[in-house]
Parts: sequence; structure tokens; C-alpha cells
Amino acid sequence: MSNDDEEPTPHMMIATCRTPHCPMNNIGEIAPFYPNATPPTYRGQCAQCGQTHTDIVPVP
Ligand SMILES: [Zn+2]
Repeated sequence: MSNDDEEPTPHMMIATCRTPHCPMNNIGEIAPFYPNATPPTYRGQCAQCGQTHTDIVPVP
């Protein structure tokens, strides 16, 4: 048990699917992401095609 660290804060990120023919292709979706200790720092999957997001950037 090592729960004495601070609660991780979710960061609002824009995740964009880059899968050709996916309905969400090139459409950025804002969602909270928790940073991971190991790279890639932010991980997400497209809700439409299930592919791992390769394009996750902070909300400006
Ligand atoms: Zn997709």
C-alpha cells in the first residue's frame, strides 16, 4: 500500500482520433486524463473505433 501520495489530478486534454474512416477521425474530444508514471503519459482509446489515441494534447 502506498496511498499516501497526493491524489492525482486529472488534466483536461484534447484527444483526436486519427484512424481513417472512423467517425471521430480528426475530431478532437475533450476529456479528463490522468497522467501515467511511464510513457506515454496520457493514454486513451477512441470510443468509436477502439484504437489508441496517438494525438492527445493539453487544452489550451
Ligand atoms: Zn476512432
